[in-house]
Amino acid sequence: MRIVIMGPPGVGKGTEAATLTKTFNIPHISTGDIFRELYKDRTHVGKIAKEYISRGELVPDDITNEIVRHRLSHPDVKKGFLFDGYPRNIEQAKALDEFLEKKGCKLDAVINMTAPEKQIIERISGRRVCEKCGAVYHVISKKPKIDGICDLDGGKLIQRNDDLPKTVHRRLKIYNNQTAPVIGYYEEKGAIIYIDGTKPIADVQAQVMKALGELK
Ligand SMILES: [Zn+2]
Repeated sequence: MRIVIMGPPGVGKGTEAATLTKTFNIPHISTGDIFRELYKDRTHVGKIAKEYISRGELVPDDITNEIVRHRLSHPDVKKGFLFDGYPRNIEQAKALDEFLEKKGCKLDAVINMTAPEKQIIERISGRRVCEKCGAVYHVISKKPKIDGICDLDGGKLIQRNDDLPKTVHRRLKIYNNQTAPVIGYYEEKGAIIYIDGTKPIADVQAQVMKALGELK
């Protein structure tokens, strides 16, 4: 199964990606993770990528496409893969199509997870993080035993700047601007599956499996 998963921050994409990679026994390929590893390994590419990412910009297409092309040469993608965070624009989507065509295959599905902005903002802005250990809580769905205190080490729970409603709003706007054309590109190819990310995790998984089954 060769899948691309898309969705705004806070839509539950990470959870669904983990379930799918387990179900189909395929690698989860996140270009963000690859860039972080390349940076940790002190590579030149890693350093360049870090500069773009920390400015909130996209890493240039030629760099990103090159690491993807390289990643697709690993033997573990024989059974398929799940891309997360790639492609981010039409140039990247076209590059991915080309790489796959050269290998004699194509994408099976593009899963686009959606949720109303209001709900995403509620989900993300309810997050609280332990100052000491980084454990993540939620004021509604994952409360600590004592208000504002980490269960694990008694650390203070704080709200990250990234999770403030106004920051989330900005992140969503950037995401939508970037990805709307990519979604249009895949829509034209008829490869896109829309998934309602507001449903409980088990329902989301059932929706995805049903849609993937109907592809064949
Ligand atoms: Zn803690």
